[in-house]
Amino acid sequence: MKFETLCLHADLNEKDEWGTLTQAICQSATFVHKGVDVDSPYSYSRLSNPTRSHLERTICALEGGYAAYAFSSGMTAITVSMMLLKPNDHVIATNDLYGGALRLFNNVNKANGIEFDFIDTSNIPLIESKIKPNTRVIYLETPSNPLMQITDIEEVAKLCHKHNILLYVDNTFLTPYYQKPLELGADLVIHSGTKYLGGHNDALAGFVVLKNKELADKVLYYSKTIGGQLAPFDSFLIERGIKTLPIRMDRINDNAYKIANWLRTCNKIKKVYYVGFDDYKGHDIILKQSKGYGGMISIEVESEELAKKILRDVKIFQYAESLGGVDSLITYPMRQTHADLPKEEREAKGINERFLRISVGIENVDDLISDLKEAIYE
Ligand SMILES: *Cc1c(COP(=O)(O)O)cnc(C)c1O
Repeated sequence: MKFETLCLHADLNEKDEWGTLTQAICQSATFVHKGVDVDSPYSYSRLSNPTRSHLERTICALEGGYAAYAFSSGMTAITVSMMLLKPNDHVIATNDLYGGALRLFNNVNKANGIEFDFIDTSNIPLIESKIKPNTRVIYLETPSNPLMQITDIEEVAKLCHKHNILLYVDNTFLTPYYQKPLELGADLVIHSGTKYLGGHNDALAGFVVLKNKELADKVLYYSKTIGGQLAPFDSFLIERGIKTLPIRMDRINDNAYKIANWLRTCNKIKKVYYVGFDDYKGHDIILKQSKGYGGMISIEVESEELAKKILRDVKIFQYAESLGGVDSLITYPMRQTHADLPKEEREAKGINERFLRISVGIENVDDLISDLKEAIYE
């Protein structure tokens, strides 16, 4: 089956006893055993639940993995993935990461004895120079958040295989519709399902997708031990979102392309970070490893006043955290997602008071451009 069909029918032969077309919301914490010596498929919802398992099989098929596990948020998915490490293990990570991941790594994982190097992972020789005997994981976000840096997944995977290191990729920004890290050599894929997969800004979710049984067994062991699994109703919501993932992504991709190109013509916008520009650093890599550019654009405007005016005056775009939904949003990374970063570090990266991040939705693109135009110029 092709991707669009898998979004609806990955689990074609797993109908329940009523034959419901939509996977039933199985709102039960526990399951009655059929007999003393009879194996039952489900026993307790921390281990597995029919609604969640159905969603997990769908995500697994979309990413082309061995197994997938659904959690109550993207951060839970990252936390569980980091539990595969032990004290004195070393991680090399993209320096431009989702703010919550940075907070977890710097304030929780480091305190538990894990070492980190945060570097520009688009620079492959630099990665190789940072590899140490205790390097266990390379952790990538590509495109990164919010500076849209692109890392060549296949090249990093080659390094990982050579040095016996696991490759983790957070695939939230492009989704498996566009980019499939496991096919490019990654071992573990992370998602904030809250974003494009769910797609409607109405439920938090996270996923870990594993390439092989050994890793899958470990993640399942930690997940059933720790908890944090996705609840049945939220599993239903995310599965419902996934049915329309390809058509939403197509629209978002087209809208973002037009908006980014329009932003580039504005004299009050100093810089546009958008991976779809032909002359963007890493454009050749994104063409090779992704079928689309996604819906994320960052901009640097001419003044702090203008950044605030845009946030105040937009009417269709909403000033709100998060991304990847049907509604277009604008965030102020300095105040929101990256507020925890030390000022010098943030400024050095270009995340200043003039910097905004845009998540393009599925509205009419002319309306979106008019909304920005009025907020910028009127
Ligand atoms: C939002 C996000 C996360 C965290 O996911 P939550 O569902 O908010 O916990 C992780 N990585 C990326 C790239 C994100 O955008």
